[in-house]
Amino acid sequence: MRVLVTGGAGFIGSAVCRRLARAADCDLLNLDKLTYAANLESLAGLDGDRGYRFVRGDICDRSLLAKLFAEFQPDAVIHLAAESHVDRSIMASDVFVQTNVVGTHSLLEAALTYRETLVGEARAAFRLLHVSTDEVFGSLGETGRFNEDSAYDPRSPYSASKAAADHLVGAWGHTYGLPVIISNCSNNYGPFQFPEKLIPTVILNAREGRPVDVYGDGGNVRDWLHVDDHVDAMVRMLEGGRPGRTYVVGGDSERTNIAVVEGICALLDEMAPGATPHRELIQFVEDRPGHDRRYAIDASRIRSELGWAPAHTFDQGLRETVQWYLDHESWWRQLREKRHGGDRLGLKREV
Ligand code: NAD
Repeated sequence: MRVLVTGGAGFIGSAVCRRLARAADCDLLNLDKLTYAANLESLAGLDGDRGYRFVRGDICDRSLLAKLFAEFQPDAVIHLAAESHVDRSIMASDVFVQTNVVGTHSLLEAALTYRETLVGEARAAFRLLHVSTDEVFGSLGETGRFNEDSAYDPRSPYSASKAAADHLVGAWGHTYGLPVIISNCSNNYGPFQFPEKLIPTVILNAREGRPVDVYGDGGNVRDWLHVDDHVDAMVRMLEGGRPGRTYVVGGDSERTNIAVVEGICALLDEMAPGATPHRELIQFVEDRPGHDRRYAIDASRIRSELGWAPAHTFDQGLRETVQWYLDHESWWRQLREKRHGGDRLGLKREV
């Protein structure tokens, strides 16, 4: 199988590349612009791998896309390239619209043009998997879970841009017959996540004895999915997912933010004890503007249709993730010094 991965130098994309590159019968092309969120060190193990090629480029670049599709002749596309951080979207939304909406449109056009050149089995087998988020469905109350029939109700610039992309992907499937699959997935965690996201930020700030910010009252609920379980879900969607179908993907691990933060502090007390308990570093700060209260996922469809289930419990996955960050300072040190030092983002707006 020949797979074009967009955004393969990011957190989830690099996990996809590491996994697929290990599969004997898979050739990979990783197209990534290398924004601040990318890190080629996450892919260091693949250097020199016969079936792996990296191209630095922008998904908005239509001529580059046409060239890559024609040369590489993919059987499938896994589309992950995006601006992905809600707090940054609150500060400056332009690049979110550009990459997440315009870039997805460019990719759809290139994929459609390319698929028109295919015949027979190759044409029938081609798939485009668009990786999206549960945040497009807005915010839940105390009860209920999102499923594939949930109405779109995006409320942040990030989720609005992802929702727009989802609608474009769906339309290209419906109108032009492009065999697309959309996944709406909950919060991912695990190794190699850029240190601006909640779990790595808390680990690294607490480890350094810096204040650990918790937005609002800390009662916002997210469902957590280990990145490797997400990759497993993607493989199943590509192999057995029905074109035109959406799958919501979640880890059955709902936690309040404060529970996650306290959990990390307790793990650090055990794994890297400091002078005082790490939970004393927690401080409640002004809430994120428009902060969605609760997300939860009913993943019955992917479980029953594709036989997928998460292999990680959150408690074990979080323990392993904390250990990974403690063991891999060389991976995050540069990012922390040069790209994001752990300070709060997303309160002020850049115009
Ligand atoms: P990330 O920010 O870690 O990585 C994004 C990657 O995309 C980076 O390597 C970046 O260089 C690349 N990129 C950005 N703009 C590009 C462009 N114009 N052209 C080419 N490459 C570009 O993101 P992530 O957390 O790995 O998320 C990957 C995808 O999964 C995103 O589409 C995101 O919306 C979606 N998603 C993420 C989560 C999560 O919890 N992280 C949950 C659900 C869905």
